Amino acid sequence: MLHLFDTRTRKAQEVSAMDGKKLRFYCCGPTVYGPAHIGNFRTFVLQDVFRRVVELGGVKTTHVRNLTDVDDKTIRDSQKNGVSLAEFTAGWTAKFHNDCEALNCLSPHIEPSAVAHIPEQIAMVQALVEKGHAYTSDDGSVYFRISSFADYGKLSHLDERELDLGKTANARSNADEYEKDSVADFVLWKGRRAEDGPNFWQSPWGEGRPGWHLECSAMINKYFGSDFDLHSGGVDLVFPHHENEVAQSRCACGGDFARLWFHITHLLVDGGKMSKSLGNMYTLEDLEKLGYKAGEVRYVLAGGYYRRPLNFTLSSLSDARSALARMARFDNQLKKAAGQDKLPSYKHLCNKQPELGVFATAWASLNDDLNTPEALGHVFSAMKATNVAELSAAEAQACREAYHFILSAFGIVLPEEEAQEEAPAEVKVLAEQRWQAKQEKNWAESDRLRGEITALGWMVKDRKDGYDLVKN
Ligand code: AMP
Ligand code: ZN
Repeated sequence: MLHLFDTRTRKAQEVSAMDGKKLRFYCCGPTVYGPAHIGNFRTFVLQDVFRRVVELGGVKTTHVRNLTDVDDKTIRDSQKNGVSLAEFTAGWTAKFHNDCEALNCLSPHIEPSAVAHIPEQIAMVQALVEKGHAYTSDDGSVYFRISSFADYGKLSHLDERELDLGKTANARSNADEYEKDSVADFVLWKGRRAEDGPNFWQSPWGEGRPGWHLECSAMINKYFGSDFDLHSGGVDLVFPHHENEVAQSRCACGGDFARLWFHITHLLVDGGKMSKSLGNMYTLEDLEKLGYKAGEVRYVLAGGYYRRPLNFTLSSLSDARSALARMARFDNQLKKAAGQDKLPSYKHLCNKQPELGVFATAWASLNDDLNTPEALGHVFSAMKATNVAELSAAEAQACREAYHFILSAFGIVLPEEEAQEEAPAEVKVLAEQRWQAKQEKNWAESDRLRGEITALGWMVKDRKDGYDLVKN
């Protein structure tokens, strides 16, 4: 059973479906005003690995991930581009979907958008006003009064920052995004402003539009009700976004809101923050133009432990290419030894977990707080420890099914073109002899054998702990 570190309680908690049927989880989705960058995809890929581990563990899920298609940024940039908000966000939504598919992310079961849920958002603001948690301001905006909710700050542990919520009684923030230092009443509904152009809706408080934090609360209430299993996003969302969601939802709907909180630490590029001005804010398309493949990007993103920052470098993508090639070679060896190329589907694997054998430790690491780098380490150890030549056809098939179970959890699709032809026995013997010579530091013999192997049309590529045979 999967355990995850929960942001609110700061403890490892068991992930389970409270209704005993389906694990209901919500992920804050993209703001569709440009291409998602690889930082965003770190979060979305790890949420995908999370979902796969839950499902492969035999628990069904309902995965909801929203699209933010109205906020300060989408409105600003649609106007800059001279197109309607709907047209502008539709284009970036399509791009996002293409990237997700290339990265082999499962589609959420429900993908609601903010614009498609305006009535639900207005109803939530109404409930908050009626219950005394919200108030209107002169410009037709509505604010949430944070001093009216005693638990405000519990999720993000604001008390440790020695902030006196009483002192913020008159402070207000009208921006969709703000920093932890500016704890303030936040905007639920924004009165119409000239810069919003045609993007406004009728409400009991006049024309305007929803504040950013509101949409997730309204959609969660619609699709899950007042209580659900798990909520997720990048770590930047803990405060204020998720804190504000908790306040809105619990005050408007009662209930406890999310039972568990899964937050993903940020991705860094070359050891620092990504930024447009540094030119290191890579999108998937940027990396593909540099010659890397989406599968390699996924490998790097999935392979970092979610509670540590991931330092992304281009050389990590080259390493991913070699790792995937090794994985594909191992798979080919198993396929040959099994004498067939049949594998259970993802759905089948979710219903019936194969005997995991040497891959059991990798599965255990995934279930222990989604420790993906440890799990990958176990996968490579298992590959190394398996002498495929000694397996019967049935054993090879069983091993391959277990292997693919773990690959499915990572969402790894093995590259076909890397699948190498197996070297003939004669070449393998020479390569073994050469490896021995090398271990004995008999360089002359090792070089002589390398020459023989090359003459037969093969190349030896040394690794730290062994070698690979590649056809010339
Ligand atoms: P946005 O499109 O800005 O609303 O962000 C979509 C998701 O990406 C959210 O869950 C963010 O928390 C997450 N995110 C943003 N930047 C990064 C980053 N550098 N590393 C990991 N996740 C990020
Ligand atoms: Zn959200």
